[in-house]
Amino acid sequence: MNDTILVVGAGPTGLSAAHGIASVGRKVVLVEKEDRLGGAPILSGYAKLVPSGEWAKDAIGRMVQRVEQNQLISVFKDTKVTQFDGGHGDFSATLSNGQTVQASAVVLGTGFTHFDSINKPEWGFGTFADVVTTTQVEQMLVAGKIACPSDGRAPERVAILLCVGSRDRQIGREWCSKICCTVATNQAMEIKELSPKTDVYIYYMDIRTFGLYEDKFYWKSQEEFGTKFVKARIAEVTIAPDGKRLLVKGEDTLVKRPIVIPFDLVVHAIGMDPNEDNPEIAKVFGVGLEHHGFVDRGEHYTSSFASTRPGIYVGGSALGPEDIDTCVSHGLAMAMRAVGDLEARARKAA
Ligand SMILES: Cc1cc2nc3c(=O)[nH]c(=O)nc-3n(C[C@H](O)[C@H](O)[C@H](O)COP(=O)(O)OP(=O)(O)OC[C@H]3O[C@@H](n4cnc5c(N)ncnc54)[C@H](O)[C@@H]3O)c2cc1C
Ligand code: SF4
Repeated sequence: MNDTILVVGAGPTGLSAAHGIASVGRKVVLVEKEDRLGGAPILSGYAKLVPSGEWAKDAIGRMVQRVEQNQLISVFKDTKVTQFDGGHGDFSATLSNGQTVQASAVVLGTGFTHFDSINKPEWGFGTFADVVTTTQVEQMLVAGKIACPSDGRAPERVAILLCVGSRDRQIGREWCSKICCTVATNQAMEIKELSPKTDVYIYYMDIRTFGLYEDKFYWKSQEEFGTKFVKARIAEVTIAPDGKRLLVKGEDTLVKRPIVIPFDLVVHAIGMDPNEDNPEIAKVFGVGLEHHGFVDRGEHYTSSFASTRPGIYVGGSALGPEDIDTCVSHGLAMAMRAVGDLEARARKAA
């Protein structure tokens, strides 16, 4: 039986899994398709993370560093698995760089893809320069300046629209992306900190700052930073008669009246889509996808993190929307499962 475990994807999930496997003395081959490790928080340039308040480059940077410095972990960047054969205990993976890796088990930490707001055209993204996404706001926060892309002015009024690309059956995305309410309420506070004269409005269907995030983000955002919450159904985002500002049009669902407010900057709180590579991943690794397109699980309770193929484990946002804390736990749990199952097999064979 081979000593090596293959980990695919180097976001929070894959980094946590790789470190967990190496910490019990097993070798890891970590394959990442991009030229940097760290997953979405690094690749999309997130600012301060919720709930810790730590800069993503520091928090995730530490995870990257301990993997890159671990002698038991071999890292392949800019690389994908193109062919995959064998069975639990004896897999063989061909990489896009031509190398072959023998591995006894596989951990998929292949993550998600950000929703592309172009798929919600009536809300103005791609039409108006001053309609942006939460990932763009993260990058503005990193740069230390909140500005309207059209002319660089500091916005007097910002609207953050929740559930863009989530909980929207019209575009085939019924799921809640779990983290965007918390990220949006946090961004509202950070915008106010950077630009105290800016007023921030959050348009919502429901607020889901789940668990312990309720007081730290939802209440703090409105009580200490003056964020205004508007429960509304949004119809469209159009340009105002001044040709400069944007009009958010919809219905205030509390008072059941039409509502039209002008804004300088409109932000789409984008959701988490299945990884756009998932059809390819399913084909190469022979694992199933659930009906939305996320990677499917085996059995939940006594075979946690099993995919539909024995010896291949899946966790983090490859399974569905998750926050980073959960992904880190999934990574460690997969390490435990992958190693534990191999040791049980070895004991049985002895
Ligand atoms: C705007 C926004 C802000 C957010 N802010 C926060 C926050 O502050 N706090 C928080 O807890 N969560 C936040 N999240 C959620 C966070 O991004 C995810 O929880 C986290 O990135 C998921 O980690 P992951 O490792 O499962 O997936 P990912 O981060 O997506 O990493 C997957 C990795 O796998 C690689 N990969 C994909 N396919 C392949 C392939 N075929 N072969 C090889 N490699 C592959 C990718 O390149 C990537 O590096 C935010 C989400 C959004 C949308
Ligand atoms: S977390 Fe909030 S913004 Fe995100 S999909 Fe769920 S309800 Fe909508």
